[in-house]
Amino acid sequence: MISYREAIEIITAQSRLLEAETVSIENAIGRILTENILSPEVLPPFSNSAMDGFAYRQKDLDHSERWTLNIQGTLAAGDSFSPEAKTAFQGAWEIMTGAQVPSDCDCVIKVEETQRNGSQVTLLKRGSSGDNLREAGADFKVGDPIAVKGTRLLPEHLMAFAALGIPNIQVRKRPTVSILSTGSELAESPEKGSGKIRNSTAPYLVAELRALGAEPTFLGVVEDEPRIFIDHIKAQVEKGTDILLSTGAVSMGKYDFVASALRDLGAEIFFHKVAIRPGKPLIFARLGKTVFFGIPGNPVSTNVSLRFFIEPYLRASLGLPKETAKNFRIKTTIQKPEGLKCFFKAQSIFHEGQGEVSILAGQESFRIAPLLLANAWAILPEAGTEVSSGTLIEVLPLHSWTEKETL
Ligand code: AMP
Ligand code: MG
Repeated sequence: MISYREAIEIITAQSRLLEAETVSIENAIGRILTENILSPEVLPPFSNSAMDGFAYRQKDLDHSERWTLNIQGTLAAGDSFSPEAKTAFQGAWEIMTGAQVPSDCDCVIKVEETQRNGSQVTLLKRGSSGDNLREAGADFKVGDPIAVKGTRLLPEHLMAFAALGIPNIQVRKRPTVSILSTGSELAESPEKGSGKIRNSTAPYLVAELRALGAEPTFLGVVEDEPRIFIDHIKAQVEKGTDILLSTGAVSMGKYDFVASALRDLGAEIFFHKVAIRPGKPLIFARLGKTVFFGIPGNPVSTNVSLRFFIEPYLRASLGLPKETAKNFRIKTTIQKPEGLKCFFKAQSIFHEGQGEVSILAGQESFRIAPLLLANAWAILPEAGTEVSSGTLIEVLPLHSWTEKETL
């Protein structure tokens, strides 16, 4: 049985960097940028009002009794405004949020701080120059960095691209991933007494893979019988699918046929079993251009296989650096099996500047409930049967795609 470190070396050595392609920002969520994006424009594009109120010139108040100004006109968001239009002496513009502020006005007072009398407005307080103005370029100047090469695009990046008129961007192509669930026990609507259960891991894999920047396809469920499984594998290899995943049937049971099916197909099997918990019986193989991960069927084994094996493969294919774990202090002493690296569902928090991590109760690989409380994975080293309270251990977030690389 190989160690986790050895397994990751084998997996990353099998990866190949994918090409870049151009996509519209509507299709860019979760994709990995292959170019640096700098702001081509200023934002806001023009000086505009942050409030509904009145735009005026501070200096006009010096000569105005009771700060009363003559209303010159109304400016709404979207109104064009001639640059030559001048604000009259002791004049004010009724102005709406987002409307262009005349260039000779240096202040907007909000409507709540004014009193209107017909065509005049009295200010209840004297504002300061710059009040309630959103200056052109206050948010972005031309050339400001928006996102750098290697960024995983989040919704806020798309907001910035849209605001700055960037319709298309270059990203890494998505690896195609096909998913096959094995198990005669899997059914869509299990009847009482049938011994069947629902397929919980296929929807999880599809969702998580999509978030990670891959292009997943669920091929369906195959019963614990190798013939159909083999046909599926042949079809995917012929199609040139980048990654093929199957769940279940990799352990030592009578119906665990995946390893022998791979051998019959002449696959190059790199490893079967890694010194970890959960997810020990993982298989990694190659058939032609397609790499194959045979994932154990229990839900949390599937989580761990995706997070700690398939994800590093995807990161290498997408040109992303290896993730680095943070060191957090473990809050209670925890028992573990000797010789196995453990990936445990955990809760991490910062307390007085120090990262702390609690291992959640219920680490068995069939339990989904603790995952709903978890925000992190606690990673315990192979050696030893106990990790004592206060020890620094490695922690990674539950999902890497929620982590934002800073500019
Ligand atoms: P296996 O790896 O095939 O031995 O399956 C291990 C355990 O995971 C068994 O209890 C299976 O019923 C369960 N299991 C396998 N596949 C799934 C799945 N897609 N969804 C939920 N449970 C599964
Ligand atoms: Mg099974």
